[in-house]
Amino acid sequence: MRRPFLSLIIVLAFLSSCSPRNTNPLLGEFTAPFGAPPFDKIRTEHYLPAFQEGMKQQRDAIAAIAASTEAPTFTNTLETIEASGKLLSRVNNIFQSMMSANTSDELQRIAKEVAPVLSAHADEILFNEKLFARIKTIYDGRDALGLSQEQKRLAEKTYRDFVRGGANLNAVDKAKLAEINKELSVLGLQFEENLLKEVSRFELVIDNKDDLAGLPEAAVTAAAEEAQQRGYAGKWVFTVRKPSLVPFLQYSERRDLREKIYKAYINRCDHGDDLDNKNIVLRIANLRVERARLLGYKTHADFGLEEHMAKNPAAVYEFLGKLWKPALARAGREAASFQDMIKKEGNNFKLESWDWWYYAEKVRKAQYDLDDEMLRPYFELENVRAGAFLLATKLYGITFTERTDIPKYHPEVRVYEVKEADGKHIGLLYTDYHPRDNKQGGAWCGGFREESKIAGKIETPIITNCGNFTRPAGDAPSLLNFDEVTTLFHEFGHALHGLLVETVYITTQGVATDFVELPSQIMENWATDPEFMKMYAKHYQTGEAIPDELIAKIKSSSTFNQGFATAEYLAASYLDMDWHSLTEPAQVDVNAFETQSLGRIGLIPEIVSRYRSTYFAHIFGDGGYAAGYYSYIWAEVLDADAFQAFRETSLFDRKTAQAFRTNILAAGGSEEEMALYVKFRGREPKIEPLLERRGLD
Ligand SMILES: [Zn+2]
Repeated sequence: MRRPFLSLIIVLAFLSSCSPRNTNPLLGEFTAPFGAPPFDKIRTEHYLPAFQEGMKQQRDAIAAIAASTEAPTFTNTLETIEASGKLLSRVNNIFQSMMSANTSDELQRIAKEVAPVLSAHADEILFNEKLFARIKTIYDGRDALGLSQEQKRLAEKTYRDFVRGGANLNAVDKAKLAEINKELSVLGLQFEENLLKEVSRFELVIDNKDDLAGLPEAAVTAAAEEAQQRGYAGKWVFTVRKPSLVPFLQYSERRDLREKIYKAYINRCDHGDDLDNKNIVLRIANLRVERARLLGYKTHADFGLEEHMAKNPAAVYEFLGKLWKPALARAGREAASFQDMIKKEGNNFKLESWDWWYYAEKVRKAQYDLDDEMLRPYFELENVRAGAFLLATKLYGITFTERTDIPKYHPEVRVYEVKEADGKHIGLLYTDYHPRDNKQGGAWCGGFREESKIAGKIETPIITNCGNFTRPAGDAPSLLNFDEVTTLFHEFGHALHGLLVETVYITTQGVATDFVELPSQIMENWATDPEFMKMYAKHYQTGEAIPDELIAKIKSSSTFNQGFATAEYLAASYLDMDWHSLTEPAQVDVNAFETQSLGRIGLIPEIVSRYRSTYFAHIFGDGGYAAGYYSYIWAEVLDADAFQAFRETSLFDRKTAQAFRTNILAAGGSEEEMALYVKFRGREPKIEPLLERRGLD
């Protein structure tokens, strides 16, 4: 997932606390190497006054532009707006990163205080009529101003951001919109906070060794360590965090316990208690329709998709429809084969959703003599990370050097300097790969500073990659499963996008959500490529490269369980689209809505949507993927087709890599996404490589 840096158009309010400028490290010059954030000095109490000062500086800058008597020009208006929120972005980027990766009750409290204020600040800018008039003048005359391609794009994007932000509304509607935005800003935070607390709350405590039957040694060791930490010495604790949950579902012979932990997972924030998210989900969905209608759109999906490659809901539903039938059919065949296995074992129960992982591993073992645990020794975290770096070196010549002289926000973080082949500094990459109680689930790419070079002032990017990967346990280092391996490469792909982008402006850096997964997902192709795998997948004890025999098994089983993977993903995509296709606020039961939505597409009961509404953080948390969860598979058409370009030449073909770097990574959002793709590939993408990869052809 890509957590976008917050838009630059955010601004002012009057917050309570204050501390002198010279003692607040967020306000001073960042003197660590490359201007890295001074995490050794930043304390929680520094954030509020820094937000306050950041908003004040932007408000003053905006007021000066709006009051200017000079005729509006690209430089005195658009470029000045672009530069106006520098300090605020800096503070906000650091704060948001800590909220996701290293939060605390105090940070959560500050977030809830600041969110509505930032929302009002942004609206104050968007609703500034004098400012908007200047923007419109430049936008209307953009073809005659001799602007560069990127400058023209900045004029268009800024104008559209203002219009979509309500600049054309009357005063009454502007006030309504501001209220909606404020409320939404807090609801998303509350959703994520509830989810974080709910995940930390559940524990499956096992005190009888027999109840561990079937579990791999590493999972047992990790569970013993978890128990120790939670004050249950001598017992074992499993949680609904993926590194604990997945091996349990795959290998526990205790069907009743699998059911228990799986139900805890799929019912997160759906217990009718203080952490229940159902009311929040409904309120968010309803506020989004209201906002869309206020802005002249039928639904939130129409509003959101206008800025995506897909353009409208009909195109998304049509696309999902093309994949749904073959995926469901394939999943049905998979379920039948698992049911056969149950019968063969002499049982006569019906396959249920909490059985899926268990029988998938059994059948995979029987059919391909392969299971997840056989692969782990070849995927030590250090080797996989080194593999991702090696890939970037082979493609783009860039290098990664660990820096130990840069302040970190947590001891588990590692910092790397990224350099061109000739040694020129590109930026910094922070990696933070293990789960913690104060860290959001999943994996994402974020950052502390975006690349930009406004008026020749070069700012190099500072990017983060965060995950929740298997921890070292006992004497063994962190050994990843295959899914974690591809996730690491995925987030690293986002990082390369943020590191290698070369736009002048930050606004022209952003790309559509259904395009942003191209740079990330294309990396997964190399991660699983036999030739490349041999270069990084080395046994953690012997150093021996992954044997050909094992690679052959991975390859021959590559479409195994893809019916399930595709169906559970598409189900969540439909659910997302349905929530955002409301044409008016609705008073519905959230679970009934979900049942109806998934019933309409005929999802089989053995499969649960990849996300249920109450923990669908992609769309109800920070909301970046609202009416956009389909983006992953949409972009998979692009990445599968793009990777073909390497297949047609060679795996590390420098010319193809250079074309990808120039037209996709460096270009950012300086042109329409499809235009960029065509520049790289010489034509529009074809869907066939994706269908083949997923075994859906
Ligand atoms: Zn992603």
